[in-house]
Amino acid sequence: MDESVQFYWDFVSQGTSAEGARLHFRRVPVEMHCLDCDERYRPGGEDLSCPRCDGARVRVVAGEEFHLEAIDVETAEDVAARAVADVDAVGQSTVRDDGSANEGPS
Ligand SMILES: [Zn+2]
Repeated sequence: MDESVQFYWDFVSQGTSAEGARLHFRRVPVEMHCLDCDERYRPGGEDLSCPRCDGARVRVVAGEEFHLEAIDVETAEDVAARAVADVDAVGQSTVRDDGSANEGPS
């Protein structure tokens, strides 16, 4: 399911500022409520009937939510700043490597 949403997202976001965005999903487990015996339960498998009274008059009380929790927007400036930071990190590690290599032979 996640993959198909991402697929359509990639399609509809083409040419917009959201193009290339990654979607992250958090799944909410389904919870059912039996209207006959008032049992609340989480169905296992495809059988959604009530495990206590085997009733079929049930409704979903949780797990149908579909809400957006957060959007992280990364501007071109953010990407450029991170690229510079990556270069800095590489530069520091290179200096450290050179230092230890010089200590070795002597
Ligand atoms: Zn029941």
